[in-house]
Amino acid sequence: MSFVRAFALFVCSLVLSTQEIMALDSPMGMIGVWKTEGATTTKVRLPEFQGGVLRNEAVSIVNIPTEFTPDESGCFCFPTQDDRMAWVHTYYYATAQVRHYNSILKGLGQPELRGVVIHLAKGDSQGEPGGGTMSSAEVALSFAQPALDPTIIAHEIGHALHLHLLKKSVSELIEYPPKDWRKLAGQSGVLEGTANLLAALYLGEPLIGKYDWFDASIDVNRYVNLVEDAPTLRYQFERKVKSSIYSKHYPATVALLQGWLANPLMPEAMELPDPYLASAAVNQPLWGSAVSLGFGLVEMVYLKAIAGLPEFSGYSDLASEVLRQASLVSTAWCKDLSVQFRARGVEVAADLCDGAA
Ligand SMILES: [Zn+2]
Repeated sequence: MSFVRAFALFVCSLVLSTQEIMALDSPMGMIGVWKTEGATTTKVRLPEFQGGVLRNEAVSIVNIPTEFTPDESGCFCFPTQDDRMAWVHTYYYATAQVRHYNSILKGLGQPELRGVVIHLAKGDSQGEPGGGTMSSAEVALSFAQPALDPTIIAHEIGHALHLHLLKKSVSELIEYPPKDWRKLAGQSGVLEGTANLLAALYLGEPLIGKYDWFDASIDVNRYVNLVEDAPTLRYQFERKVKSSIYSKHYPATVALLQGWLANPLMPEAMELPDPYLASAAVNQPLWGSAVSLGFGLVEMVYLKAIAGLPEFSGYSDLASEVLRQASLVSTAWCKDLSVQFRARGVEVAADLCDGAA
């Protein structure tokens, strides 16, 4: 063995052992892992804290409860029913997702998503359970169970990434109260549909809200025709009210929805497409593509498409931009997607796949 090679091996082993030491020093915590019947806990190495507990370059979790200290072994080991676990659990999942996106953003030459502040609260005090992300800098999440549904965390981080790419907040993208409610439904579909699709592609799981409110969850792999049978807000409100799991977890929201169903403030708005469900008209063909062509490819193409759409004008513009990006990968794929979008009542021009690579 030459001296150079021996020296190189020595340096390599030095690097490895440094990483190992860092890993051993990283804090431990208890997170929830969902199975069909509920969450079980598992002990994991948490991402390094940088600049404070539950804080690193990607995310910081705030509103940390009092008495939030590790046990004598240094582990943030709170059991499943202890609300404090929600903070550890969300930190772990959110960091992994933001770091996943940053590796893609780097490849796209886009700035990284950094310093996302996550506000956690228990229950449905913030209105719609799950979250209320208004900008890439601030994510709000509420939980019914400390092992917060990872599909809901992923949906909210999806919003943060989308808004980061656009460098805008929701209030800059969507006019509220709107002059045109139908336009709002389409714009909200782009917003919510994107968060659903990004969550589904990241997790490899098409049901959003699966663990927190299974019987009213959102399926990105659902056939929806926007013209003929788009599921309405009324339909989704009724699903939530009838859902035994949703009612158990979010009684205040159910009471609110029951009031709206009995006496709608905006009766015409109740018949508009529900943005979470109707967006499957764009999402289902993309989910199908991800299953057959690969999740990473579809994720990349979709991120390029949404980064190229600075305004929210609705499903047609979104689908058209997706086709333009897909055409750079494969004409056949682009044409297949185009047929599928049109079959779902999403208007796209016939020539978007022409002249592709
Ligand atoms: Zn959302």
